[in-house]
Amino acid sequence: MGTRPAPRTTRTPKLVPPALSGILASMVQLNFYVDIDDVLSETTRALALLAQTRFGKAVTFENMRVFDLSVSLGLNAEELPAFMAAAHAPDFLLGLEPMPGAAEALTDWQSDGARISVVTGRPPESREATLRWLEERGIPFDDLEFVDKYRRFNDPSALTPGDLLTRDYDAVIEDADSMADYLVLHTDARVLLYDRPWNQDSIAEAHGAQRVRGWAEIRRSMATVRGSPTA
Ligand SMILES: [Mg+2]
Repeated sequence: MGTRPAPRTTRTPKLVPPALSGILASMVQLNFYVDIDDVLSETTRALALLAQTRFGKAVTFENMRVFDLSVSLGLNAEELPAFMAAAHAPDFLLGLEPMPGAAEALTDWQSDGARISVVTGRPPESREATLRWLEERGIPFDDLEFVDKYRRFNDPSALTPGDLLTRDYDAVIEDADSMADYLVLHTDARVLLYDRPWNQDSIAEAHGAQRVRGWAEIRRSMATVRGSPTA
């Protein structure tokens, strides 16, 4: 009594109940793995300079043909720990130059609904400096994960490459041939291998990965990942 009829509405009823709609949205959310060093940041050029100025090594970026820094920089067993400590010191990490176009690409992908997982092989102790660098450079992300990519940490609590296989990444952007090769062989992700002197012998391309040379090319490739509107 006294209840008015509900106002007529011209809205079309939703075909998908809200709860189911949320599930569908999460099912189609793209999930991107983005490495930091030599993908988001120009790290190894800075490492070569560090090796020259602090350790007297005559090396050039172009001649760094293997990923192992002790080999590519000619560091002996005594020099390597000191070099790695300097390379992970906050002042070094905070001074790294970002790769042109990276921040803009991640900003656009995230606003298009993609999930951005920044996945680094840096030691977990560098988390604070890494977070600060990402913030200062305006690089957005949803997760920052520290993975013992190269079995360096001897820390059983660190994630291993095997832990990444269940993440269901749609795309992976890496420069390390070991990680690119592993993920292209063991996941369905599109793997983009950032062209660097040390990954020329990668097997990833033979298994469907794409070699990319900068963020303009990365954006073009990612625009077609599962039909995503991330151009
Ligand atoms: Mg890297």
